[in-house]
Amino acid sequence: VTILAIESSCDETAAAVVRNGREVLSNIISSQIALHTVYGGVVPEIASRKHVEKINGCVRVALSEAGLTLDDIDAVAVTYGPGLVGALLVGVSEAKAIAYAKKKPLIGVHHIEGHICANYIENKDLMPPFACLVVSGGHSHLVIVRDYGKYEIIGQTRDDAAGEAFDKVARAIGLGYPGGPKIDKAAKEGNPEAFTFPQAKIAGADYDFSFSGLKSSVLNYINQAKMQGQELNANDVAASFQKAVVEVLAEHAIRACKEYGMDCLAIAGGVASNTALRDLLEKECAANNIRFCRPSPVLCTDNAAMIGAAGYYEFMQGKTFGLDLNAVPNLPLGDRERRYHADKN
Ligand code: ATP
Ligand code: MG
Ligand code: FE
Repeated sequence: VTILAIESSCDETAAAVVRNGREVLSNIISSQIALHTVYGGVVPEIASRKHVEKINGCVRVALSEAGLTLDDIDAVAVTYGPGLVGALLVGVSEAKAIAYAKKKPLIGVHHIEGHICANYIENKDLMPPFACLVVSGGHSHLVIVRDYGKYEIIGQTRDDAAGEAFDKVARAIGLGYPGGPKIDKAAKEGNPEAFTFPQAKIAGADYDFSFSGLKSSVLNYINQAKMQGQELNANDVAASFQKAVVEVLAEHAIRACKEYGMDCLAIAGGVASNTALRDLLEKECAANNIRFCRPSPVLCTDNAAMIGAAGYYEFMQGKTFGLDLNAVPNLPLGDRERRYHADKN
């Protein structure tokens, strides 16, 4: 089964061709990061316009790199939520147009399920059940993947997402946007023991996260240092902040594996490309006899190959959509059956 996949939920316009959910024939990503950098974050209106400009080209190149035409495709999969509504609509419209013109089945994919399914691409033998730590720009979820398409959320953030905290702290220490990769790099030159920032835990909630207290504490420190005319060692702040984040993520994830009897941990989302998080989890998983799966960095951040992987399992279970498929900016994760039927009715 060969699937053409399309992703446009945020600031990456992407198209890919994926065979049987695991084999990537092409993976084209047109990033708008440079465009949004001057504004310090994604500007929705600009994102939508840019998607319109780029989407046809991405699809064309994805097909030609795969050596295929639209006639060779068995189905079209597209992210229909969550994300920016104007951005999502571009991908959804493109997918619907192709499905209609070429009479191909249409598959609506949940963006975060896509992030999780990125793990199938390089781990050909990975099968549910497993635990997955999803840490991205808008989500911080601890999920038990019970089966293909069956997700049980056991923990989530009460406030900011992990990636959001990285981006906000990076802006405050003058590293710019997007913050995650910049903090990752700066932290390598800094001392993680320089400051003790509070951990992102919540009392009484086993697997939930909270990053806003940690973020405020870092911002307070920075403001105080500025007021007292002290020189700010950005590398030390970055390293200490990053340590506080990744330690909590790792601790929750490992404890979840043990308590839920999972012998495999996967990670997903943009923050999953963080080198400190990957190093720590690799060590902790080895120490606890847990298999550790992580996508290559390019498959952690937004891409369409992951949508093709998720779309394949939807397709195999007959979960296709009609041409009334619409963008759903706040699409929930975890109750696909209910969601699917709600979409149908
Ligand atoms: P969501 O997937 O929740 O809808 P999104 O699609 O915008 O949000 P992703 O593309 O999955 O998010 O990830 C982007 C986020 O990942 C940004 O917040 C970015 O700062 C963060 N990020 C990327 N690389 C790293 C890194 N090396 N270390 C930490 N964070 C990172
Ligand atoms: Mg992005
Ligand atoms: Fe994402």
